Amino acid sequence: MSESKSPTAELDWIEGGQPFSTRFADVYFSRDAGLDETRHVFLQHNSLPERWTALPSGARFCIAETGFGTGLNFLAAWQLWDQRAPLDAQLNFVSTEKYPLTPQDLRKALALWPELAPWAQQLLQQYSGLTSGWQHFSLAEGRVTLTLLIGDLFDTLPQLDAQVDAWFLDGFAPAKNPDMWQPALYQRMAELSSEQATVATFTSVGEVRRGLQAAGFSMRKVKGFGRKREMLCGNLSSAAASRWQAPWYARPEQPVRAERHALVIGGGLAGCSTAHALARRGWRITLLERHNQLAQEASGNPQGILYAKLSPHHPPLSRFIQSSYQYSLRLLARELPANDDNWQACGVLQLAGNAKDAERQAQLAAQGYPADFLQALDPHQASAVAGVTVERSGLFFPGGGWVNPPNLCRQLVAHPLIQVQPLAEAEQLTRIEDTWQVRTAAGELLASAPVAVICCAHESARFQQSTQLPLKAIRGQITHLPVTAQSRSLRTVLCADGYISPARQNQHHLGASFRFDRLDSTPSSEENLSNLDLLPALSAQLNAGFAQCRDQTATLAARAALRCTSPDYLPLIGPLADPASFAERYAMLAKDASQQPTACAPWYVDLFVNTAHGSRGLISCPLAGELVAAWITGEPLPLPRDLSEAVHPSRFPLRTLIRGNRADRQ
Ligand code: SAM
Repeated sequence: MSESKSPTAELDWIEGGQPFSTRFADVYFSRDAGLDETRHVFLQHNSLPERWTALPSGARFCIAETGFGTGLNFLAAWQLWDQRAPLDAQLNFVSTEKYPLTPQDLRKALALWPELAPWAQQLLQQYSGLTSGWQHFSLAEGRVTLTLLIGDLFDTLPQLDAQVDAWFLDGFAPAKNPDMWQPALYQRMAELSSEQATVATFTSVGEVRRGLQAAGFSMRKVKGFGRKREMLCGNLSSAAASRWQAPWYARPEQPVRAERHALVIGGGLAGCSTAHALARRGWRITLLERHNQLAQEASGNPQGILYAKLSPHHPPLSRFIQSSYQYSLRLLARELPANDDNWQACGVLQLAGNAKDAERQAQLAAQGYPADFLQALDPHQASAVAGVTVERSGLFFPGGGWVNPPNLCRQLVAHPLIQVQPLAEAEQLTRIEDTWQVRTAAGELLASAPVAVICCAHESARFQQSTQLPLKAIRGQITHLPVTAQSRSLRTVLCADGYISPARQNQHHLGASFRFDRLDSTPSSEENLSNLDLLPALSAQLNAGFAQCRDQTATLAARAALRCTSPDYLPLIGPLADPASFAERYAMLAKDASQQPTACAPWYVDLFVNTAHGSRGLISCPLAGELVAAWITGEPLPLPRDLSEAVHPSRFPLRTLIRGNRADRQ
């Protein structure tokens, strides 16, 4: 999938200060009374006031929209949700947008609706320049999620995994935007619709009505808003024929759960992010951590880097990193006060390590990313930004920076629904009736709950149900460098093959080593030296300033820990299946990988995993927590299908089967 250009909306501001699209030659909303029109067309004609008043406690409701535009429809829906829905219900709003507004334009457009200011403020606080791909937002303490599918909806909607309860069919008038109002859209809407799905649109064009009817919606013309004579609304009357979906990636059927209570095993970034995402959805969490405190292993470094290494060709890993990085920035802005102890959005400067890297960076820079996301800098500009002299060109990520992961972990679990149980080393998992029981090696019961999520880095494979997970531990060491008068001027994180951070509490952190041959966590002078060897490529000036450290490698403070990675360097996030039954049930794939079996996968009931974040936990764990929560609760997945499959634990038993087939034929 191509993810390069992220063109923004081209606007004129017409009378009354209203946005007008010069690309489509159309208005974003009614000139007279946009908010009233939104309420009339989209809220009332999807019967949202009545439907939301009748929702039971703990319910979920999903709206999907074509054309996010200024977010007016979203904000008006969210306002109504706050007025009508039960306090513990959750609204999932998914919207497509090919040409997102810049943050400045969005602010200007939303200023037209002072009544919506309390909701608009929350959106604007998290809204920065949007790049292509999926952009996830968690709002209203988790009661509302917004997932923006940035790109053409004919590319993005086929990748959506959701059950939509109400459609807002917006997107400029059919005469102005005929490419969008196509049968393929109506067909996809039907496929994504829940049984109760409704649809409303401002247009009454006959071709739209007939198209929706042909896709299975029963449509009627009703009185339009203001001077508009008519509009259309309707509901799904016949379900779309279901297409084959790989059962090993399908959603496990949700069991009836006695209570919303989950065990999260592991108190690093993956576990704390998972606990946080679920608690924001009203789940009670018992978080088990074997140490006496959170974040004692790979998440325990004093400064982690918000480092997004992207590829101009946008393979799954790069797209995953891009979406997760942007979500992490939103989470940090929302959750963790920025200060010298917690985190600083001081920017990350990725210096080109060699000619190939310079070429990769040039290709990325040519792809039209917003300047608040990345900027190409020559060595002169890079030095000015960094505060020290650097010799190379680079890509500057102004929103990135460093974070103290232990502080972030503590903040993520500071929620009344999360109970942290320290010194609780889980060794066995047993499903007894409708709950998972977690026990120590000695058989002592630690905790039980209907749902369990394993977040133990490479130790995630220690349970009988997870021994098959192909996890690898990689030792990494960072070196602490005492600040000097000269190094104090370093203002951003510098990265090439390694990285150095601006000082936190009078120390820089320089890293990191990658070693497969040692699995202990005692720092070595050898790795201090190899870390110092990374400095010349970052800045000759800094390297010279730290020259004396090369004689002190045995005494320099350092920290070593084990990261966890998988064979394809993507994390494992999602439900777990029993590998023996998997191999038996889908044995036909070993002979012919093109078979399309329909038998559902042998899922362990309500058992999930979130691990293998490598050295990227800071950028991948927050969104991974949202993804696990979406698998558990049944809400829309915050990533496109191909990416949720690329990180799905089932990919490994599947590959084993298919590779077996190839090996047989050789
Ligand atoms: N719902 C919006 C609001 O509340 O402000 C107004 C939407 S505006 C009338 C239509 C939007 O649809 C524009 O932002 C436009 O960029 C977007 N759009 C048009 N064609 C599209 C397509 N093929 N894929 C995704 N978005 C599209």
